[in-house]
Amino acid sequence: MEKVGFFEFGLHAAPHRPILGWPTGVSPPVKFALHYLFSQAEFGLMCPLAVTELAAMLVLRYGSPELREKYGKRMISLDPAELLQGAQFMTEKAGGSDVGANELLAVPDGDRFRLHGEKWFCSNADCGVAVLLARIDGDPPGTAGLTAFVVPRDLDDGTRNAYRIVRLKDKMGSKSLASGEIAYDGAVAYMLGERRRGVKILLDQVNMSRLSHGMRAAATMRRALHESLAFARSRTLFGKPAISQPLMRRQLLQVLIPAEQALSTSCYGGDVLRRAEQGSNSAAELLRIITPVIKMRSNRDNVAATGKAIEIRGGNGVIEDWVNSRLLRYSFIPVLWEGTSVINAIDTVRRAIGREGAQRALRAELHRLLAEADGLPAVYRDRLRGLADRSIDYAEQVAKQPGLEKYSGLATSRLYHALSAVLLAWEGCRIGRTGDARRLLMSRFVVEHRLDPPSPLAAPEAAAWEDEAEALLLDDAPVPLAQAGAVVSHGRSA
Ligand SMILES: Cc1cc2nc3c(=O)[nH]c(=O)nc-3n(C[C@H](O)[C@H](O)[C@H](O)COP(=O)(O)OP(=O)(O)OC[C@H]3O[C@@H](n4cnc5c(N)ncnc54)[C@H](O)[C@@H]3O)c2cc1C
Repeated sequence: MEKVGFFEFGLHAAPHRPILGWPTGVSPPVKFALHYLFSQAEFGLMCPLAVTELAAMLVLRYGSPELREKYGKRMISLDPAELLQGAQFMTEKAGGSDVGANELLAVPDGDRFRLHGEKWFCSNADCGVAVLLARIDGDPPGTAGLTAFVVPRDLDDGTRNAYRIVRLKDKMGSKSLASGEIAYDGAVAYMLGERRRGVKILLDQVNMSRLSHGMRAAATMRRALHESLAFARSRTLFGKPAISQPLMRRQLLQVLIPAEQALSTSCYGGDVLRRAEQGSNSAAELLRIITPVIKMRSNRDNVAATGKAIEIRGGNGVIEDWVNSRLLRYSFIPVLWEGTSVINAIDTVRRAIGREGAQRALRAELHRLLAEADGLPAVYRDRLRGLADRSIDYAEQVAKQPGLEKYSGLATSRLYHALSAVLLAWEGCRIGRTGDARRLLMSRFVVEHRLDPPSPLAAPEAAAWEDEAEALLLDDAPVPLAQAGAVVSHGRSA
């Protein structure tokens, strides 16, 4: 799989140089589509591919001409003899979420530095070039004192640099990826970018990685959905196909809907990134808020959806002959890296909204998408607009009052559901023009179950819209826009 990922597909080099017959590096949406495909087969190795791509991005973007020539070029090579895989090491025992507490020391040594100390979580620990954060001797404490460095595994004279991989961590999932602890005993390091700008530089990588993790969550849930549908269509329960049992159908939708929410938001995230890279300020502002929103909610949903897929398969779900338990084990890991859910929720509410006001761009964008969705029934458009506005109002309230910080996770989840409900409706209308509006039906599931659910103790009542939508989604045949429009308009919408 490593050979396929690095040398046949060139995924680590995708944005930086031509791959797969493309004349140039690929744009973010294409890159994420490739991540989506690869991750459905092998999740662990997506990490070395992605960290190599992003470490190369940092070296090529911030490195001196010498660093770019010596390391950057080799990090995007498609030649196994030349390739230097990359990595990013920030986390230490002292500082994970609180990266400003880091202690790794960089001591000047001529035109380079020597590192003394440790890194505690190092994915792709055996890489050829790591980009890491350290504090130059005498620089101030906190994040403002951290500088980025490039640390090669091999020195110019062919000897090994002075660090040891103390051990590989025995983690619960993603075992195809080597995660290690590293001790630096005077290792040679080269400064990357300006002194004390390390966190800002590494954040370029963190944000790109957060978006990619949305796509990887979509891929893992997609795999879980495929497995679940294949099972439910072939298993007979009490004389009937499993897929015809009402509670089985409900469980299948509990995997399908979050999988498609993650796909829509991540594809959209890729497109917003493309626009931001082309210089759009409004896209950059939008990207600022949707990145932590997508990272947080899609990865949390992944844990629930892959867990649900285990239950759907019954006892075989926990037997290693099938992929299910591997999916579940994998799903927990991206919840933690590139910032836990808490850190992404705080980033959304306290920083993106509270400090930068990025929710304004989100509000304008959701209104624009709704106005643009040709064929969307007016009653449903109005309902979505109202829910989107209320979700953003809620997050603004949480951002304004420090005493409400504990609601940051809820606020971030609501933003995600509002974004995904609008995107699914918009996509349903677009694709509906050429014959399949199923995504519009998915939008209504998000609305009814996530954004505007009935009171938990309200009397149960059969919902005609839901039975019809469920049948249309699980039958897997295209649904005309007029039919989907009718389904989202009747019942509680009306
Ligand atoms: C398999 C794996 C590979 C990794 N690879 C890398 C890597 O290659 N490079 C790298 O730099 N890092 C890597 N990490 C580290 C990862 O980014 C950190 O584990 C993560 O940032 C959390 O830091 P921590 O483990 O120190 O936990 P802590 O920061 O100690 O957090 C502990 C708990 O406190 C919570 N918390 C933190 N701040 C707050 C707050 N303000 N309010 C409320 N709760 C809070 C967290 O959400 C969490 O629940 C990896 C982690 C894993 C699991």
